[in-house]
Amino acid sequence: AQSSDQPWDAVVIGAGQAGLSAAHHLRRRGVPTLVLDGNDAPGGAWQHRWDSLRMDGVHGVADLPGAPAPPRGPQRANEVLPAWFAAYEAEQGIEVVRPVRVTRVESEGELLRVRADDRSWLTRTLVNATGTWERPFVPTYPGQETFSGEQLHASGYRGAEAFRGRRVVVVGGGASAVQLLGEIAPVTDTLWVTRREPVWAGDTDEFDGTAIVRAVEERVVAGLPPASVVSVTGLRLRPQEQAAAARGAYERHPMFVRVEPDGVRMPDGTFEPADVILWATGFRPDVSHLAPLGLRSPLGGITLLPGPNGPQSATTAAADPRVQLVGYGPSASTIGGNRGGLAAAIAIVKHLRSAHPAGS
Ligand code: FAD
Repeated sequence: AQSSDQPWDAVVIGAGQAGLSAAHHLRRRGVPTLVLDGNDAPGGAWQHRWDSLRMDGVHGVADLPGAPAPPRGPQRANEVLPAWFAAYEAEQGIEVVRPVRVTRVESEGELLRVRADDRSWLTRTLVNATGTWERPFVPTYPGQETFSGEQLHASGYRGAEAFRGRRVVVVGGGASAVQLLGEIAPVTDTLWVTRREPVWAGDTDEFDGTAIVRAVEERVVAGLPPASVVSVTGLRLRPQEQAAAARGAYERHPMFVRVEPDGVRMPDGTFEPADVILWATGFRPDVSHLAPLGLRSPLGGITLLPGPNGPQSATTAAADPRVQLVGYGPSASTIGGNRGGLAAAIAIVKHLRSAHPAGS
C-alpha cells in the first residue's frame, strides 16, 4: 500500500474542465497540489461521449484558463477535447495521477484523508471536481424490471446502427434526447416521451453556442437556481435533425405510466410496443465518496457558502470549509467549472492562511 503522511496543501479529485481550472489557479498561487483522476487518460467526461457528438454539436465549450477552446467543426468531440486537455496538462505542468478512483474522504483531526482502495493521502484542503458522467440517472417506473427488451441510459449510447429495425422509446426532454432522436429516427421507428411538454426555442432565435452558455450564466448571476442550457434557451433542431423531424420523431408523447414485458402502457391506457427504452434522463453529482464528511443538508444537497461574487462563485461546503466543490450546482458547465476553479483556489489560499498564519 502506498501512503504518505506528509500532508498536501490541496488535493483535487477529478481532472475535467473544473479540476484542471482549479489545479491551474492553485499552481499559480504556489499551493502544493496533488491531482487525482479516475480515468485512464486525459479528457474528463468528454472522452466517453458518443462518437457522433461533433464539435459542431456541443453547446459551446469555454476556454481553459489561458488556453482557447478548440474551434467548432465536424471533428469528434470525444477526440478533440481530450487531446486539448492532454496538451493543457503538459503545457501547464499539471501532473495528474491516474487512474486513481477515490473511494472515501474522511476527516482526521485538522486534516482530510483521501482514500483510493489501498492508497491514501493526507491534505489540508480538498477540491472535488468529479462531475456527473459516472452517475447516470434513470427514474423508476412500475414494471421496469419486467421489460424483456434492452434498457440503456444515454451515457451508454454507441450510435444509431445498434437500433436498426428495433422500436426505440426515447425518454427525456433535454438536448440529449433531441440529438439522439435525430440520429436514431432515420434508421428505425421511435417514440418520444417526456414528463413535461418540451419547450422549443423560437424560429427566429439564432443558434450561437457562446450566447447560450452566457444565458445560462446570467441566470446564475441573477441569483436564480442553476438551470440546464435547454431550460434557458429552449430546444432547437439543427440541420442534422431535419430528417428525423420529417419522420415525426419530435411529436412528443406524455410519459408512460408502466413498463410491460414488450412495451409501455400510456396514460390513456393504450399500449406502445418497444424493443428498446433509451433513458436520456440526465445525471447526478458524483459525490458519494464525500459521504463520511457529512456535508449534506437535510434537503439532500450540499449547501455551498456564497462566493466572493455571490452565488455564481459558490464553491465552499458550508458544513466543512476545507472542502470546495467545483462543477457542482452553480458551476456545473464548462464556463462554471472554470470560474469555480478560480473561486476554489482563492478560498483555499484564504483557508490555509487563516489556519496557518505566516510566522505562526
Ligand atoms: P468531468 O468532465 O465529468 O470530469 C470529472 C472527472 O472526475 C473525470 O475525469 C472522472 O473520471 C473523475 N472522477 C469522477 N469520480 C472520481 C473519483 N471518485 N475519483 C477520482 N476521479 C473521479 N457543458 C458545456 O459547457 N458545454 C457543452 O457543450 C456541453 N455539452 C455536454 C454534452 C453532453 C452529452 C453532456 C452529458 C454534458 C455536456 N455539458 C456541456 C456539461 C459539461 O460536460 C460539464 O459541465 C463539464 O464538462 C463537466 O466538467 P467537470 O470537470 O465538472 O467534470
